[in-house]
Amino acid sequence: MEKIYLDNAATTPILDEVIDAMVAVMKTNYGNPSSTHSLGQEAKTILEENRRLIANELHVSPAEIIFTSCGTESNNLIIKSAVENLGVERIITTEIEHKCVYEAVLEVKNRNGVEVVYLKLNEKGDVNLDELEALLKSSDKVTLVTLMHANNEIGNILDLEKTAKICKENNAYLHSDTVQTMAHVKLDFSQIPVDFASCSAHKFHGPKGAGFAFIRKSTHLRAQIHGGTQERSLRAGTENVVGIAGLGKAFAISVDHMEQFSAQIQEVKDYAIAQLTEKIPGILFNGRCTEKERSLYTLLSLSLPSMNPLIGLQLDIKGIAVSQGSACSSGAAKPSSVLSKILTEEVQQSTTPLRVSFSHQTTKQDIDVLVEALVEILGL
Ligand code: PLP
Repeated sequence: MEKIYLDNAATTPILDEVIDAMVAVMKTNYGNPSSTHSLGQEAKTILEENRRLIANELHVSPAEIIFTSCGTESNNLIIKSAVENLGVERIITTEIEHKCVYEAVLEVKNRNGVEVVYLKLNEKGDVNLDELEALLKSSDKVTLVTLMHANNEIGNILDLEKTAKICKENNAYLHSDTVQTMAHVKLDFSQIPVDFASCSAHKFHGPKGAGFAFIRKSTHLRAQIHGGTQERSLRAGTENVVGIAGLGKAFAISVDHMEQFSAQIQEVKDYAIAQLTEKIPGILFNGRCTEKERSLYTLLSLSLPSMNPLIGLQLDIKGIAVSQGSACSSGAAKPSSVLSKILTEEVQQSTTPLRVSFSHQTTKQDIDVLVEALVEILGL
């Protein structure tokens, strides 16, 4: 059975060109980048070329790009080191950050006694930047603000420029989890004064196990993994040269085709919204999903008009991979951690959430198959 893949916010298929680039490095460049002989230096060159490529795109210095194993590691490094090495006493965040940010924040709260303030969210999942500004003005505590650029479950986009301006004006550090937007949305960190950001290659057709942290040079973070002096002593351990070659290749392809891919994907998303609205009466779209300027074009979060915890499984049997927006443990469906914070109890009790996420490989035919399957499953 041919698979229809509509779970690109979870991960994306690796492009053939990326695989080719990685295989070439695997076969030839097996040196350790810390070795001084030529094989080692060739591997080092691969790291530095890819670091430069990424830095140029983000308008930052190559020294500000620290390769890591993934988005989770980057976010942990930033949050934990900001508390331990920058004297952060207070963290302002939300309850709908990705689990790796949410849990890292709880860890430093428990371990280091940092005060944690969660911003209120409205029913669309928006943060109120006036509340952020008032909180920053209300205290002299050294503060780290950590707010994700685009939410991985509902796709809401934060106004990063405005957030960064508020943080700068009030002397707060700003970390943004940019895992869902990096290489999908133009980011110019010479114009947006964020201090820290994160990236994961597998969200844009690169390999799993490769990512980076953007750490502004003026800040003085320290390693969380200790050992050698790799990555300017911010992340010890022999670098994943093959993974970084794949990360760089996928990053280059994504940014080179950003305009084309985003227009194409937005068209597929618009088509999905139109088809779902027409064929499934009572369907709801969550967060800012139907607003182009405020929603990530790769993601559509919806609530089907009846309760069906098995829908993910039923779609899977039909060869369609989507995320249910809810995690099943011991056979019981748990509400999604994000939707449970923004939807009313009544909506949560009477609907089934689904996250449909697209890539440039998604077609309108894929959407037709999904909509037809949903109509059948819902008995419409
Ligand atoms: N942050 C966001 C917003 C994500 O969507 C993800 C992945 O799902 C992560 C962080 C974690 O990234 P990784 O899978 O590379 O650890």
